[in-house]
Amino acid sequence: MMGKPRAIIVGGSISGLACAHSLGGAGWDVVVVEKASGLAHSGSSTGAGLGLDRHSCRVLAQWLTEQTLLHGSLPLKNQATDSEKKVCWTLARDDDFGFRAAHWGDLHALLYYSLPPQTVLWGHHFLSFQRSQEGVQAQVEIIETDSVIKIVGDLLVAADGCLSAIRRHFFPDHKLRYLGYSAWRGVLDFSENEYSDIILGLRRVYPELGNCLYFDLAQGTHCVIYEIQNKRINWIWYVNQPEPQSKGNSMTVKVRGDMVEKMHQEAEKAWVPELARLMKETKEPFINIMYDSDPLVRLSWDNVVLVGDAAHPTSPHGLRSTNMSILDAWVLGHSLRKSGVENLGLALKEYESLRLPVVSKQVLHSRHLGRLKQGFLFSPPHSFPWKNAGPEEREELLQRKMPFFEEIPLPGDILS
Ligand SMILES: Cc1cc2nc3c(=O)[nH]c(=O)nc-3n(C[C@H](O)[C@H](O)[C@H](O)COP(=O)(O)OP(=O)(O)OC[C@H]3O[C@@H](n4cnc5c(N)ncnc54)[C@H](O)[C@@H]3O)c2cc1C
Repeated sequence: MMGKPRAIIVGGSISGLACAHSLGGAGWDVVVVEKASGLAHSGSSTGAGLGLDRHSCRVLAQWLTEQTLLHGSLPLKNQATDSEKKVCWTLARDDDFGFRAAHWGDLHALLYYSLPPQTVLWGHHFLSFQRSQEGVQAQVEIIETDSVIKIVGDLLVAADGCLSAIRRHFFPDHKLRYLGYSAWRGVLDFSENEYSDIILGLRRVYPELGNCLYFDLAQGTHCVIYEIQNKRINWIWYVNQPEPQSKGNSMTVKVRGDMVEKMHQEAEKAWVPELARLMKETKEPFINIMYDSDPLVRLSWDNVVLVGDAAHPTSPHGLRSTNMSILDAWVLGHSLRKSGVENLGLALKEYESLRLPVVSKQVLHSRHLGRLKQGFLFSPPHSFPWKNAGPEEREELLQRKMPFFEEIPLPGDILS
């Protein structure tokens, strides 16, 4: 073959940009097709907090030109809240596993700016593809001009998220599963008011805020609170409810003022006053509808491969989706480098055989954690079992219990 092999990556979010780094590093020419018109501007409310585990941090350290996100390490603490008495106490705690919290927009921007210019085609909507033994041809609409172009390559990487059109091509009947609850979430920026009553109050109830990620468990519900860089507090509150209606394919519900008001009232009943106040003071909270899907039976076909949420839509309780995306990209790059484009099928099979067992178990364990914390596994349902939780129940809450948390199968000893 003349020149470098070429990969067409569909989707320019975390997985797509991670693959651009990994495949670029493996000697591939990459083009990323992303329908959004550009990077979310700095300070925009797009995205919220995410957690990076130590494997992801090691990988990112090799890709990012700026490393600020990767410093520090946070323990995770699960605590119970007695909603009537408005008190909370510690149930379980994970320490020393190199966990970091970051803002989605910060990670996305750092991945983007560490890539060669012109890698990403913003405002390009992938429409369809054809495969042959020679390679892949993608039809892509340039949104601004309404024109359609063809892009040819040796490999098509589906990084187009949990509603992936490319996954649908191979698994037309595969469905996302609504988890039975949705999440209110938001980020409070306190950079201009570090010593306000609300921040001081929060620090009293959550004394390790900034140095710890808190999970609060109450009657049939739970909440996650942590501080992210640049004086922001991220919170997520999971609420059991029938599947909300959303517009088109969106995973986010547009919220009205009356919905926000009701959420504030419910928060006062469920949580300690300081947490309810955090929710009240947050501008533009939004609702994420929670889905995952049963694990797929395969992730690759001759010259097409699924990565990230396209490959394994997951619930957020195991803090997995971003970490799985980064590891998918990393393993794919290594398998491609090792086998070369002449053995593309072999490389993709290796990727699939390394990642499928890991992501399948992690998706199912995350689902289990969500059901546990939302009270689905107790009788009567949503009763509050944490008051008398014994050592075994407490241990079940630990993030370390995630399958493959310590050791992830990798091609060769690439992360040692
Ligand atoms: C705007 C945004 C904000 C997010 N914020 C958070 C957050 O705060 N915390 C968190 O944990 N997770 C967040 N996520 C989700 C998180 O990125 C993913 O769960 C995880 O990192 C896996 O990412 P992914 O790249 O596989 O999927 P996604 O992040 O869903 O990205 C899929 C990408 O593919 C693009 N795409 C889809 N179809 C097409 C098409 N036909 N043509 C061209 N492009 C297409 C989408 O525009 C999107 O950019 C966010 C995702 C997005 C898109």
